[in-house]
Amino acid sequence: MSENLQGLLFPNYSKYPITLVKGEGSRLWDDQGKEYIDLMCGVAVTNLGHKPAKVTAKLHEQLDQLWHVSNLFHIPNQYRLAQLLTDNSCADHVFFCNSGAEANEAAIKLARRYYQKVLGIQGKYEIITFQQSFHGRTLATLTATGQEKVKEGFHPLPEGFTTLPYNDIAALQGAVSDKTAAIFLELVQGEGGIHSADPAFMAEIVRLCEKHDVLLILDEIQTGVGRTGKLFAYEHYGIEPDIFTLAKGLGSGFPIGAVLGKAKIKDAFAPGSHGSTFGGNLLATAAGIATMETMLEDNVPQRARELGELAVTHLKSKLEGNPLVVDVRGKGLLIGIECTTAVGDIVNDIHRHGALVITAGTNVMRLVPSLLISREELLKGLDIVAEALARAANEAASKAAV
Ligand SMILES: *Cc1c(COP(=O)(O)O)cnc(C)c1O
Repeated sequence: MSENLQGLLFPNYSKYPITLVKGEGSRLWDDQGKEYIDLMCGVAVTNLGHKPAKVTAKLHEQLDQLWHVSNLFHIPNQYRLAQLLTDNSCADHVFFCNSGAEANEAAIKLARRYYQKVLGIQGKYEIITFQQSFHGRTLATLTATGQEKVKEGFHPLPEGFTTLPYNDIAALQGAVSDKTAAIFLELVQGEGGIHSADPAFMAEIVRLCEKHDVLLILDEIQTGVGRTGKLFAYEHYGIEPDIFTLAKGLGSGFPIGAVLGKAKIKDAFAPGSHGSTFGGNLLATAAGIATMETMLEDNVPQRARELGELAVTHLKSKLEGNPLVVDVRGKGLLIGIECTTAVGDIVNDIHRHGALVITAGTNVMRLVPSLLISREELLKGLDIVAEALARAANEAASKAAV
């Protein structure tokens, strides 16, 4: 791409030197014709691969019929997608929006309004969140995010958020009070390094939520829609959130977000209390319907579980003895490789050798392939990753020897 046109955009992204122009399943091609195995899926977005046939067909059909009507009219696609989501989760009601941050923003508003308007309790507005979390870039969601770097220069931030260490039961017990409205977390911290919530930590959260009448909000924007080997990650824990949020994988790449909640909080979003011009539009919900139908009909989460086990086993055997590698971990096809050093240069080397991966924090490489990737493509991609890590370890050793 032309250098001088790049300068027309705000420089808020640091970009890889690659321009992708074509995709099919788990393969991508750049503008030089170079082919890549996709182990990142946007960032955990194209869970069914690029241009999945059923979603493509459904979008074409909708494109020919009608693109946009206001949410002041009935939109049957929303009802069908809400049915697919509520029939297959613990939730009873859905609000549709356009992105992850919008979904989390709405979840925060929903929790505050539940206490203030449905129960009539003032002063119960505090949201407890966790270090290393990531919840989005709006003012409320970056305040909820447990990483200082996303907050720099954006003060003053909204009030009412407390950030605690993740998986720290004692800190949590000391922090929940009459002011606490919600505990808000990811079950696997995606951007924050692929750390999972301990079952004992989750059991204590559920106990405290019941005892102190606190809502449990789960951010399933990255973990949801099959990614971790279940349709939603909370199923691994045998728990039920009061509210959870979806976005990334829900539209297979078409922008859509959703807030799902239990019956008791329904009236918190009374008519006129919240809304979105584009939220739940005909095209986005068409993509969502076809995505969810494919997930369910083809039992895609099960496939993610099996491929995830295969991937971790394969990586562990290939990386055994590599002194740069500290840990290989994950749930389903949300996988992290933690290293002793920053992985940025290694990621670029992997790209040059024909596989696409990303980071999750400085020292962790994140692999989030399509849940429908073939075993051959997956193993080939993982070998490219393992070879790059071997080269990096050799380089570090020869530097140390000099
Ligand atoms: C990506 C992500 C978000 C933000 O989603 P956007 O669509 O970029 O606003 C929020 N939470 C988690 C866990 C995410 O992975």
